[in-house]
Amino acid sequence: MSCKTQALAIGGFGHVDALMIGGGSPVVIQTMWKDRLSFSDVDGKAGRALTERIGRLKAMGCGLLRFAVPDLEAAEVLGRLAAMVSMPLVADIHFDYKIALRCLDFPISKIRINPGNIGGRQKVEAVLGKAASKKIPIRIGVNAGSLPRDLRRGVEGGMDRAEALVEAAERELAIFREWGFAGALVSIKASTIADTIKANRLFRERSEVPLHIGVTEAGPLIAGTVRNTAALVPLLAEGIGDTIRVSLSDAMENEVAAGREILNAAAEMGSSRACRGVRIISCPRCGRNGFDTHGFIDRWKERLYALQKPVTIAVMGCAVNGPGEAKCADLGITGAGNSILIFRNGRITRTMKIHNGDMSEADRAFTEELARL
Ligand code: SF4
Repeated sequence: MSCKTQALAIGGFGHVDALMIGGGSPVVIQTMWKDRLSFSDVDGKAGRALTERIGRLKAMGCGLLRFAVPDLEAAEVLGRLAAMVSMPLVADIHFDYKIALRCLDFPISKIRINPGNIGGRQKVEAVLGKAASKKIPIRIGVNAGSLPRDLRRGVEGGMDRAEALVEAAERELAIFREWGFAGALVSIKASTIADTIKANRLFRERSEVPLHIGVTEAGPLIAGTVRNTAALVPLLAEGIGDTIRVSLSDAMENEVAAGREILNAAAEMGSSRACRGVRIISCPRCGRNGFDTHGFIDRWKERLYALQKPVTIAVMGCAVNGPGEAKCADLGITGAGNSILIFRNGRITRTMKIHNGDMSEADRAFTEELARL
């Protein structure tokens, strides 16, 4: 099985950052905006807060940000936002091809449609024609919850669900191929780990079209992270998957952090395209702690994931395991009796006392040591 996929360029126009998907490029993490946006969200102070949040997502490692576009007004709002941020944005459209056509008037980097629900052939072709003229890729998103009726009945009658998912994707791709559209990506998502793995393996055996992978409707933070890890790490280790999304009933920041950890795990399992980023080692904390590792991680998580280096950071509670782990990390902080020690590259660089639980000195010292990494 060849896991080398066709390469697609995303973004790279005007102010929008360029990305390569497929063709052996590093796996891209994406997430999806959780709420509907209105014009008031992209104006003035709210607009600045929104673009700052998108900037933080990008710093954490998010490479693509998808928005649901349920109507033409939402397309206008997304168009305005697309002119405000360098993050490549994806428009997610169902049912109405006119929304897709309008989105393509803006610096959108990718659209996601299902040709099967976008209307008749002429409507699909209108979208393909405009996307091709603007060199904007389209993702065909197949989902186990919305299989075409005949395939759904087939599954009810005993057809293998993974086979049905792949057939649904191939039908949609055939429309693109007949038209001559070269910028297609596919996602095949199921809510079970086994179907997700099997369907994506099957598709990859048959096609070189780039794949976006993830478990759909995966659940809340812990359940969703575990289920996605179980499905995505084996696929990524086999070279399957060009972009990932960890869909969680939780914040986008946690989707991106989970994506980073899944890529770290895949890199440990031998994936050459899952770039390893920061590795955070932290103790669970117990009654011996002299340092609140939970509070520290909460305060520092986003900044640590924003490190664009394959470094190891240790955050430990006490002298039992703290100095040992902190010493082996690139940067470590640990409680030790009434003191906090900071290690950089195996050596103690700071020792300080905590007064009345005030962590400001420790935060300041950690900031300075982090800058030296
Ligand atoms: S490092 Fe210390 S505080 Fe943290 S779990 Fe181990 S014994 Fe407890």
